[in-house]
Amino acid sequence: MYDVAIIGAGVVGASIARELSKYKIDIVVIEKENDLANGATMANSGVVYDGYHSKSDRMKGKLIPRGNKLFDKLCEELDIPFKRIGSLVVGYNDEDLEKLKKLYKKAIANEVPDIRIINGEEVLKMEPNLNSNIKYALYSPTCGIISPFEMTIALAENAMDNGAELLLKSEVIGIKKVENYFEVKLKDKIVLAKNLINCAGVYADKINDMVGTEKKFKIEPKRGQYLVFDKSAGNIVKNVVQQCKVENEKGVLFIPTIHNNLMIGPGLDSIEDKEGIETTADMIEYIRTKAMKTCRNIPYSQVIRAFSGLKAKVDSEDFIIGESEKVRGFINVAGITTPGLTCAPAIAEDIAKLFKDIFKRNGQTFSLKENFNPNRKKVIRFKELNYREKDELIQKYPKYGRVICRCETITEGEIVDSIRRNAGATTVKGVKKRTAASMGRCQGGFCEPRIVEVLARELEVSMDKIVYDDDASYILTERE
Ligand SMILES: Cc1cc2nc3c(=O)[nH]c(=O)nc-3n(C[C@H](O)[C@H](O)[C@H](O)COP(=O)(O)OP(=O)(O)OC[C@H]3O[C@@H](n4cnc5c(N)ncnc54)[C@H](O)[C@@H]3O)c2cc1C
Repeated sequence: MYDVAIIGAGVVGASIARELSKYKIDIVVIEKENDLANGATMANSGVVYDGYHSKSDRMKGKLIPRGNKLFDKLCEELDIPFKRIGSLVVGYNDEDLEKLKKLYKKAIANEVPDIRIINGEEVLKMEPNLNSNIKYALYSPTCGIISPFEMTIALAENAMDNGAELLLKSEVIGIKKVENYFEVKLKDKIVLAKNLINCAGVYADKINDMVGTEKKFKIEPKRGQYLVFDKSAGNIVKNVVQQCKVENEKGVLFIPTIHNNLMIGPGLDSIEDKEGIETTADMIEYIRTKAMKTCRNIPYSQVIRAFSGLKAKVDSEDFIIGESEKVRGFINVAGITTPGLTCAPAIAEDIAKLFKDIFKRNGQTFSLKENFNPNRKKVIRFKELNYREKDELIQKYPKYGRVICRCETITEGEIVDSIRRNAGATTVKGVKKRTAASMGRCQGGFCEPRIVEVLARELEVSMDKIVYDDDASYILTERE
């Protein structure tokens, strides 16, 4: 029997797993998909916000600045690329200035460091490609960017290195509380756990209903759509640039990504379908037009992809985090919309504190492991090495001498490493998330067949068993 079962391997579930793996307890993470980070964590802006979002008396208001500050150490320990590039919320008139002042006040109450309102001239000095009718901006230097799925994979890998277990392809279809533990029903087996944490994203309401807590809530997804631009457009902006909110309009951001691309989005709409991650022509057109208010010279011919992600919107203004009064040992971490990525490390700390109390109440010990290893084995990123280092590496491990993804310069050695690690890749998308292979201009047109070959060889299965993502997304089929 596990001490803790975590349902959902997005950034929140993985952060909690990693934090709890510091303690002498048995942990399992249960995920319905073929891979980690396939929900909201796969498809978001990747911005580590600083705290102008939320009132300081809300859970969010406290979690954002705390979460933000945890990123430097976390990313250092887990070897996750992270950059504090700063953010600008831009305004066009005096009405916008009043809104920026309100955001500034919230930021000060949330103790965001070095945030200030600047004028249009300063904005253009920082961002010469923006339109000259921008009059003001709220500038915050501590805002950062990260790859949310690389972060999640690193967290889960480190949790597993420290003893946590991961069950993929394991949808939770029923939960029964029996005396002082839970029977968690999967399709092919039952997992027993003394405590249960609900990190199921848009399905957290379903999990909550299975348990029958005193608190009912409904998740109605909000879909955000994006355009991704080739690296040649990656330097249009240096900061994350967001338009000041206008009543009844959808906000559009310009986001430089950690892999030096540019994203524009998200245009947001409410939908009912919890799997509805298609993009729509209307919203893409809306984003294109709305973005021109900030920058007139957007090279739309450089768009290489469009995607969308679903926010787990609940009808409360805040996250739903805490233990059920009625079903003790069941903890909801639900309604984690934006900026849940930013808050995840702080949420994980709070859950560990909560478990200290739960274990004490149950007369169990909750003590730190003496041998917890906070560091993840470094990832070799071939293109970041100098010539001498590349040469030495290839001499030692010839697979680093074979470039598989030419757009992103990703070698066979890196792909093999991404498969062999704990929480390793088993699908083409899994390799993409871990190495950035096929994320470039050709979007996998050239390298995907090679990735299939390497996956099949490493996993010792035939190539027609390799899927892009879920089980239905096969790439090869047998000859007629
Ligand atoms: C468009 C958009 C933009 C955003 N931008 C930002 C941003 O810039 N900065 C920021 O801080 N935040 C941002 N967010 C918010 C952030 O992405 C989320 O808060 C975060 O990813 C939530 O993580 P999660 O682990 O709670 O959920 P998810 O990543 O959705 O993970 C939930 C997991 O639970 C699994 N699951 C569900 N049901 C079951 C079941 N029955 N059995 C087993 N597993 C199950 C799912 O498969 C999934 O993997 C954005 C979100 C969106 C959608």
